[in-house]
Amino acid sequence: MDPVTGAYREVQVPSHLVPSFPLQKQPSKWSCIPTAFAMVMKVPVDELIEAIGRHDARGFHAQEVLCVALSRGWIFSEHLEWPEVDAPKCRNERCFDGRVEEWLLGDPIEVECRECKGTGKWTFDPKVRTIEDLTRTWNGVLVGTTAQGNLHAVAWCSKVQKCLDPVGTMYGLEHFNVHSFYLAVNYRPELTIGIG
Ligand SMILES: [Zn+2]
Repeated sequence: MDPVTGAYREVQVPSHLVPSFPLQKQPSKWSCIPTAFAMVMKVPVDELIEAIGRHDARGFHAQEVLCVALSRGWIFSEHLEWPEVDAPKCRNERCFDGRVEEWLLGDPIEVECRECKGTGKWTFDPKVRTIEDLTRTWNGVLVGTTAQGNLHAVAWCSKVQKCLDPVGTMYGLEHFNVHSFYLAVNYRPELTIGIG
């Protein structure tokens, strides 16, 4: 104990285990989204909520944060774990539920569609970078569900490779079911007067 102030000496945590932004707790049950973004942007969550406009017992949508973020020098690029369009049909016009009619010696036969490999759905290039890949180098906000199946949002710190959960905990990516990752780009740091 410090004999002058009476305070306990701070425990020294090795710097590589300290996240690049401080953990903030959500001020209400429905404000995990603004809290997660506020952490990454290093602004107090109350200030961010004030800028968005207060909600009474209603959850926030990530998009409500994006314009405020933009005016403060931050761009968030959204990446989905399972990218799909509203009607995820195969792009091949001749494909019907993954089957295509072809003619062999004048007789029509049904074969597997080469474009969608028989799934009938629009398939994506496997070279598309996955969220797991992107989280190695980028900070951002993860939106998805908790192990208990509740919709939730957490901040992601790439430096310590941890989710900073607005309920006040930290854990690895394997404990959160990611639907989307809002990758953070601080395009005008001079607009960012942050905390931490
Ligand atoms: Zn097809």
